[in-house]
Amino acid sequence: MSTTFQALGLDEVFLKAIADLGFEKPSGVQEQAIPALLEKDIDMVALAQTGTGKTAAFGFPMLQKINTDSKTTQGIIIAPTRELCLQITNEMKLYGKYINGLNIVAVYGGASISDQAKQLRRGAQIVVATPGRMKDMIGRRMLDISKIDFCVLDEADEMLNMGFYEDITDILSHTPETKFTWLFSATMPKEVSRIAKEFMSSPLEITVGAKNMGATNVSHEYYVVNARDRYAGLKRLADANPDIFSVIFCRTKRDTQQVAERLIEDGYSAAALHGDLSQHQRDLVMHSFRSRQIQMLVATDVAARGIDVDDITHVINYQLPDEVEIYTHRSGRTGRAGKDGVSMVLVTKGEQRKIHTIEKIIQKKFISKEVPSGKEICEVQLFHLANTIKNTEINNSIDSYLPEINTLLESFTKEELIKKFFSVEFTKFHNYYEGKRDLNVDLSKGPSKGGETVRYFLNIGSRDDLDWKRLKDFLKEVLSLGQDDIYHVDVMDSFSFFNTDKPHEEKVLETLSAIQWEGRQLSVEVSTTKAGGKQRGRKGGRGGGRGKSNRSSGGFGNQGGGSRTRKRRGSTSGGSRREALEGIKNTRGRRRRR
Ligand code: AMP
Repeated sequence: MSTTFQALGLDEVFLKAIADLGFEKPSGVQEQAIPALLEKDIDMVALAQTGTGKTAAFGFPMLQKINTDSKTTQGIIIAPTRELCLQITNEMKLYGKYINGLNIVAVYGGASISDQAKQLRRGAQIVVATPGRMKDMIGRRMLDISKIDFCVLDEADEMLNMGFYEDITDILSHTPETKFTWLFSATMPKEVSRIAKEFMSSPLEITVGAKNMGATNVSHEYYVVNARDRYAGLKRLADANPDIFSVIFCRTKRDTQQVAERLIEDGYSAAALHGDLSQHQRDLVMHSFRSRQIQMLVATDVAARGIDVDDITHVINYQLPDEVEIYTHRSGRTGRAGKDGVSMVLVTKGEQRKIHTIEKIIQKKFISKEVPSGKEICEVQLFHLANTIKNTEINNSIDSYLPEINTLLESFTKEELIKKFFSVEFTKFHNYYEGKRDLNVDLSKGPSKGGETVRYFLNIGSRDDLDWKRLKDFLKEVLSLGQDDIYHVDVMDSFSFFNTDKPHEEKVLETLSAIQWEGRQLSVEVSTTKAGGKQRGRKGGRGGGRGKSNRSSGGFGNQGGGSRTRKRRGSTSGGSRREALEGIKNTRGRRRRR
């Protein structure tokens, strides 16, 4: 891009602020959006990810167009999380630092509403907000947005993912028809297009990179392991990348906490970030991560939203997300500010097809890679040490200790010294990895390399308000099994199938035959179809099945429920687990078989 900020039509006060910030030239989204928004009053839809400079793309035009002689609220910016809301507010203040009389106020949940109301009473031309708190404050008449000229919806896809559709439409209903709306989103799922259609008129569309593309300088890799080897695989990936600075994504809070605890026990600088932590604890974790005291941040998707840390070298998908769109957000945490990044995925053999679904969305190919062997890791670590030594600047304060050190080591030759020195590090890894097996799954063999698998038939299905995810959460809870212990869950209209490894069979049959689902006695049997295989449609000959719909509710296509499966938007796995448990009554001893 060869345009300058001067050429975009920005006033001198902004060029001065830009010079202070050290921005040399406009980014792609800025080059497209700023002149268009300055020149005319229009609606706009921009497909751009965090890290592309989108805050400045809407921030400068809004700042240049508002009137600071008036105290009326003229612009609102709605963003999904408190972190993002504060980040936008800070950026906007920096952009507008040379404007007199400018007041920008952030309103977000989890902080004192009366303090925020007090700030608003002083008159804020621009309000940056999370949807829930903004709606609340409008309802309490603490905020008047009836005269705004501009409304920005930032990270629209994230907001809708988080279930803010109704809050957003409610907020928009308090704004005048005459305002202009600028929508920013990393992806363009149907719900976002719907908002654009409903609330905007002939918006200018701009795209930074191709639609739905992951960041282009991120390479995507996957590693096929057995479910029980996920953690060992993660450790190897970390050990094979000694300078790793990464976010590791897990599906649930519980897994997030467990993986972080195991990493810490194993001597890594790691920490967990999830919704069960207080805001204060989360702030502490983020501070340690930003300052590099933490090398591996283990996080849930929700908690990681709005993380704005540059230089993340690797994103590791310890488990894949349920909804494909989320993968784009995960991998977008690396490869920022023009740097290279790697997004790694640990998958089981059964999950491999999800990789192909994601490839279609991100329009990029994954590289299939092998989990490194212990020997390879030892080599990497040795050369890493050799390079570190080579690049280390000599610290002369050692000089005074040298005579004594020299005396201590004088009997050794240079070769011996080098060997001894390297052995310090090498032995640690060598001893740990000696005799450790290859973790890679032999892809030419059947589905369960590790042992026999059992497929079960269960007498409840989508008619009973189940989808595969809800059923899996329910089973995990009542059977006290982990995320990976229950697999190949298929929900049909009036019945379902799922698999576990053979050792769980007795527990599954005992437990499930003794409980109810929403008042109905459960009946479970070992399925007679080939164990381990997924039953397709009516193949098993049981009536009532309506075949497999190939789409689950917004999730990957391979585990779809029947068409009666109801969408459960916004329900967290914790929530649905709780709901699942509400349907259980213990009727011990009444074991019935069909
Ligand atoms: P954003 O996509 O708005 O979250 O911006 C990401 C980061 O890039 C922020 O820290 C901005 O301060 C920075 N930034 C925005 N525009 C530019 C630019 N033209 N040149 C360099 N850095 C920028």
